[in-house]
Amino acid sequence: MPVRPIILWFRESLRLSDHPALHTAVGTGAPVICVYVFDEESPGLRPLGGATRWWLAQSLQSLQASLRAAGADLVLRRGAAAEVLRTLASETNAAAVFWNDIAQAPQRAVATEVAEAVAALGIESKSFPDDLLVDPAVLRAKDGRGPRVFTPFWKRVLAMGDPPQPLPAPRSFRSVSGLTSLAIDDFRLEPTRPDWAGGLRATWHVGEQAARTKLAAFLAQSVQTYAADRDRPDLDATSHLSPHLRFGEISPRQVWHAARFAAAEQPARSAGIDKFLSELGWREFSRQLLYDNPDLARRNLQRSFDDFPWRDDGRALAAWQRGQTGYPIVDAGMRQLWHTGTMHNRVRMVVASFLVKHLLIDWRAGERWFWDTLVDADPASNPAGWQWVAGCGADAAPYFRVFNPVLQGEKFDPDGAYVRRWVPELARLPAPLIHQPWTAPPLELAGAGIELGRTYPAPIVDHKRARERALAAHATLRRS
Ligand code: FAD
Repeated sequence: MPVRPIILWFRESLRLSDHPALHTAVGTGAPVICVYVFDEESPGLRPLGGATRWWLAQSLQSLQASLRAAGADLVLRRGAAAEVLRTLASETNAAAVFWNDIAQAPQRAVATEVAEAVAALGIESKSFPDDLLVDPAVLRAKDGRGPRVFTPFWKRVLAMGDPPQPLPAPRSFRSVSGLTSLAIDDFRLEPTRPDWAGGLRATWHVGEQAARTKLAAFLAQSVQTYAADRDRPDLDATSHLSPHLRFGEISPRQVWHAARFAAAEQPARSAGIDKFLSELGWREFSRQLLYDNPDLARRNLQRSFDDFPWRDDGRALAAWQRGQTGYPIVDAGMRQLWHTGTMHNRVRMVVASFLVKHLLIDWRAGERWFWDTLVDADPASNPAGWQWVAGCGADAAPYFRVFNPVLQGEKFDPDGAYVRRWVPELARLPAPLIHQPWTAPPLELAGAGIELGRTYPAPIVDHKRARERALAAHATLRRS
């Protein structure tokens, strides 16, 4: 009797190393069928945005190449996961279906449907914890609620000690060949007319190997200055791992252990590494929030914000999206986002604050724009980041803290190098003026080839008045 195969359902852990479900499946000695299901049909799953669709196409290519090198195929199918996997299981007489868990309500609901569908055929299924350092179920308070404040949450995680050691990738394994498969192109993930992904292609190497190389380079070169420089968009001071983590090309356990190893090797790096791991902690925290609040992208965590008097202003929103607000640090960030699919964290905070406070536009409009344009668009970190800035989130920045985009630019981009890179029409202005070109004397503007309102916009709102308007709007909320 031939040994019945195990189906390995790839979801968001698009890698071979430290993959608990794959590791266990290969360890049984049975042939393993690797499948990816492009599922736009199961209810509750948020459709990917344009930039993450592009990333997924590259990531699947990379995974396919790694699997081929290990002697296996990646079977690609499309449809509701339960239906697709039930069909594949019966087609191949599979013994079991394994997958890595995604600790989010809609993904868990889909996994439950899969388990039920294959159980009806008498086939076993098994899910393995994966995408978090700590299972959200572990961190419940007596009332069943999860953490709402970051610092005590992170202290508890640290007190739990190291997460499990990463598992090795299988070198080679038995698979089943000749199964029907779509091609990655059939998913139509990449833009064609127009093809706006040139900047993304020029910016990113996608896939498991690229993620590991990036982590190693960051730990060797940048982590020592991370704590001091991570807020500087003009420097290359952070890891750029977020899209790799988003798609599970690298696991948080791998990041954790590599960082701890680097700290043990060179204690001078410890402060930078602790800070870096605490940022990974914010990813965890956001996911815990999403676990408790599946509608995090739609509802204010602080319900008092439900009556906030947001403005409906399509022109201002479009100016923000296109990087045409007249505030150089904001425009630089929005253009960096459009061109590369990412934006520096400090600048994300500045542009988000500008949208919700200076323009009084609902944070959900900004969250949706980020969702469509970020390669790391994350169902947890994105809405949590927006709610934090808007003041309606858990452990959020208070609403009355309105970032001054000029001071933020001067502090974090002191020489104006970041603005010069992304807003080239201002490149010839000297540093003291580049964050507020409207204060430059006419001769200086003419010398730099700038005509405000023509070559670069005049500010679409006045900072002082916008700040007062935001505080007044907030005061109505307090009264109501
Ligand atoms: P590093 O500084 O090298 O940090 C290491 C890792 O820690 C990151 O890769 C990321 O996984 C995690 N991390 C760092 N900062 C945060 C944070 N504030 N919240 C959650 N995780 C964090 N991050 C996303 O991954 N996806 C998003 O969709 C996203 N949207 C955001 C929206 C807003 C409005 C804001 C203010 C922040 C958002 N962030 C998001 C968080 C943060 O900006 C990015 O994670 C970070 O800029 C990624 O760069 P890096 O990988 O070089 O980070």
